[in-house]
Amino acid sequence: AKGAGKNQWRRYRADLHGAMVERLELRSALDHAAREGLFLLAYQPIVDLGTDEPVGYEALVRWHHPSRGVVQPAEFIEVAEESGLIVPMGRWVLEQALHTVGQWRRILPRSRQPYVSVNVSVRQFREAGFVDEIKRALARAGVPPHALMLELDETALAPEHEAVWEHLADLREHGVRIAIDYFGPGLDGRPLDVVKIDKSAIDDIAQSQDQLARVQQMVALSRQYGLTVIAEGIESTTHRDLLAWLGCPLGQGYLFSSPVDGTEALSQMTKRLPL
Ligand code: C2E
Ligand code: CA
Ligand code: CA
Repeated sequence: AKGAGKNQWRRYRADLHGAMVERLELRSALDHAAREGLFLLAYQPIVDLGTDEPVGYEALVRWHHPSRGVVQPAEFIEVAEESGLIVPMGRWVLEQALHTVGQWRRILPRSRQPYVSVNVSVRQFREAGFVDEIKRALARAGVPPHALMLELDETALAPEHEAVWEHLADLREHGVRIAIDYFGPGLDGRPLDVVKIDKSAIDDIAQSQDQLARVQQMVALSRQYGLTVIAEGIESTTHRDLLAWLGCPLGQGYLFSSPVDGTEALSQMTKRLPL
């Protein structure tokens, strides 16, 4: 029994060591990817649930790995946050997304010109001058501020990030739209335009009356706060129809389209979504 305990400990130490080595390797691979320009953006339509037309696109980062192919953000965002790499990576994402939406808007008729929604980490706001950087990037890309939306997650509501909201209020006054990828307490009185309802809340609305009622509550409350709602993770026409019936104006999900490259997104806007 004593030997078994010792073996367990050894295995534990080996696993821990393995995990640390893996993280370090991931970190240096990411640094390399950033230097070599190996990130790319996928775009997912944000759809008007009344017309099934895209009104905007969320930019989602991917890593083009030389041997593993396209790596999803779930595998590297956390490490990028910890290492601080999220700052230069986020700068590139913003620059690239604005460049692309600028091109789209120059090609498309006014009534179809989309906005682009970019995920930002609170970490990026700790860099001095981030707000000015965004304003300059908009000007450089020739994109009006209302064609940019910034998406934050609920970590932004933590008490230690109070200063971030002053920067957000500044950007919002400039015309940039601010979205939060979270529904719950703490949204009242924030400089926000849009609340995104998570896929986990949407998943069961067709099976559960209670869940449907909860989502109805979220839509109603968001309205009271003067916020627009985007429902995430719409995978079926039943989801879409129920949400439209609840008065949810906008949605996103595989029913409409998974994230696609910029060329494909443009063709979705010139034709129709492949529903
Ligand atoms: P998120 O912001 O909640 O993005 C939505 C995620 O749900 C995306 O995953 C999207 O591909 C996926 N999705 C969309 N519709 C459906 C659906 O109908 N069903 C299912 N099952 N999934 C759907 P993705 O692209 O893997 O991104 C994961 C997360 O990584 C994002 O979650 C976001 O938090 C983060 N992320 C992505 N790009 C960036 C970025 O440029 N900067 C930062 N800071 N975070 C990013
Ligand atoms: Ca998001
Ligand atoms: Ca989400």
